[in-house]
Amino acid sequence: MRFADVVGNGHVKEVLRRAADRDRVPHAWMFTGPDGVGKRTMALAFLSYLVCRDRRDGDACGECRPCRQVADGVFADLQVLSPEKGYIKIEPLRESMPRLFYPPLTGPWKCLLIDDAHTMTNEAANAALKTLEEPPSMVMFVLITPSPDLLPRTVLSRCFEVPFGPVPTDEVVSFLQSRGRSGPEVASAAALSRGSPGRALQFLDSPVLAERTEFLSSFLDLVDNDAEPRLKFADGVGSSKEETADLMLLVESIARDVLRAAAGLPDDTLSNRDLAYAIRSFADRVGPDRAVDMATAWLDWDATRRFVPNVRATMDRLLQALPNPPAPARG
Ligand SMILES: [Zn+2]
Repeated sequence: MRFADVVGNGHVKEVLRRAADRDRVPHAWMFTGPDGVGKRTMALAFLSYLVCRDRRDGDACGECRPCRQVADGVFADLQVLSPEKGYIKIEPLRESMPRLFYPPLTGPWKCLLIDDAHTMTNEAANAALKTLEEPPSMVMFVLITPSPDLLPRTVLSRCFEVPFGPVPTDEVVSFLQSRGRSGPEVASAAALSRGSPGRALQFLDSPVLAERTEFLSSFLDLVDNDAEPRLKFADGVGSSKEETADLMLLVESIARDVLRAAAGLPDDTLSNRDLAYAIRSFADRVGPDRAVDMATAWLDWDATRRFVPNVRATMDRLLQALPNPPAPARG
């Protein structure tokens, strides 16, 4: 794993590289930013850089033994904790902490990576805090989280925060192509990913992408439908358990597109450009105020979905923002 393998976030690479080159590496980092933008990959690239035996041009060599072991996930001086059933509990912390006090096997660093660190229970966070307050000299913590605000302040204050930003869409496309992906789906997945290469890959492997046009077209048709098909659509999204998250991202992409169209932005700003005509006529029917209501319904869902992922209520809100269906013709 090398810096060169991480797409985007060049400013982060620069910060990490400089800290390592000057031999002033903080003992605790907090990598924050949206899911799938490469925080974990960056952490591994950084560790490789620190333990590489043959650094070249500001990057790890990717070939020496420590480099290969980090890439293969078998590096003895790296421990990774991630949530099980939604939480990181105290037991794995209790197991990991004592091991940090032995000297590194390969040198010069030992690393404890805590993925989705905001899922630590209070007990787990307190256990981590004890070592964070006085870390052994060769130990580096990397806490990774999209939601640093959910961590105790005492933990936050011990960490050097590095914010990650979304990756530009064209760089996501190149990344997908470098992974051997091709075809028209690549552009769609990149546009839908909101700057997240990881999410774009996930989209490419999701059955939802193949159904995108059909799903979004049926959503756009709802503006002319009456209550029954609208309810049926909301039921459908709420009941498909595994794909709900992907479907909600499609819903988000269309809600944003409708808002852009209602605001008079050009077609090339749309995520679903192939549906531009239908999106425009939908936006004309709903108007800017209702378009804002729809986008807000989605934003509220996004803000609370970690706690109460109420898809059905969100879909109801989105659909309530639609204008009343045309009155049936009297005959
Ligand atoms: Zn190396």
